[in-house]
Amino acid sequence: MRVYGGGVTGRLLAPDILSNPRLERRVRRKLQLRHDKIAGKIGEDGYYRVGRHEWKVPLGIRLCMKRPLVYVQTSNRYPWYVTWRNKDGKRKRKLFATPLGGIHFIATKAQYVDSGSSLVSRQVGYDIPTELVNKIPRPWKWCPYCMTARRYKRDSLERTFMATRKEWSDEKGRYVWKERKLAVLVCPRCLMTNRDRRMRRSNQPWEVRHIKRGVRRVRRKS
Ligand SMILES: [Zn+2]
Repeated sequence: MRVYGGGVTGRLLAPDILSNPRLERRVRRKLQLRHDKIAGKIGEDGYYRVGRHEWKVPLGIRLCMKRPLVYVQTSNRYPWYVTWRNKDGKRKRKLFATPLGGIHFIATKAQYVDSGSSLVSRQVGYDIPTELVNKIPRPWKWCPYCMTARRYKRDSLERTFMATRKEWSDEKGRYVWKERKLAVLVCPRCLMTNRDRRMRRSNQPWEVRHIKRGVRRVRRKS
């Protein structure tokens, strides 16, 4: 049975699957099961090993891999890619059906050409995992598509944009949202920018709220 073949590129779920809701559910469940097994292929120490090759999978990637796939990831044949720089400095991309496929490719091939080879999520940006909140030292930032910390850089055209930003207010003694002109920052690996809301949300100051035991509802701060 052909799972993919739909859409202009032929990379979406096949029409005969999409037209049969029971079959579609089964296919998506199978893709999820395949995804669930991936975390177990990576060592407890974070290394993926195969033959004489090994590659340390960044903690962020390992944590994101444990989250279930979302709808668009099971709709598309290749929700992942690996990017690396060739010897001549040219950036290359190769698509993958699973993150494990990408990790395997980095471990066995790409890392020998470029030690900065990266696995990237094509369709879904991942919020920073709670385990890494407040643990990424400046100037590094969480990249939702690389699923790890990156050094974002000013874009070459020095563009700016308007967005709200969380800032500390001495007067109010808490964080407040301010409309600000921000510089466009680019991830050097996946080329995503801080225009992405998820990227900004993940890198804003996070407050730890202490909730007393027994408290069921937490009032929103206004
Ligand atoms: Zn990135």
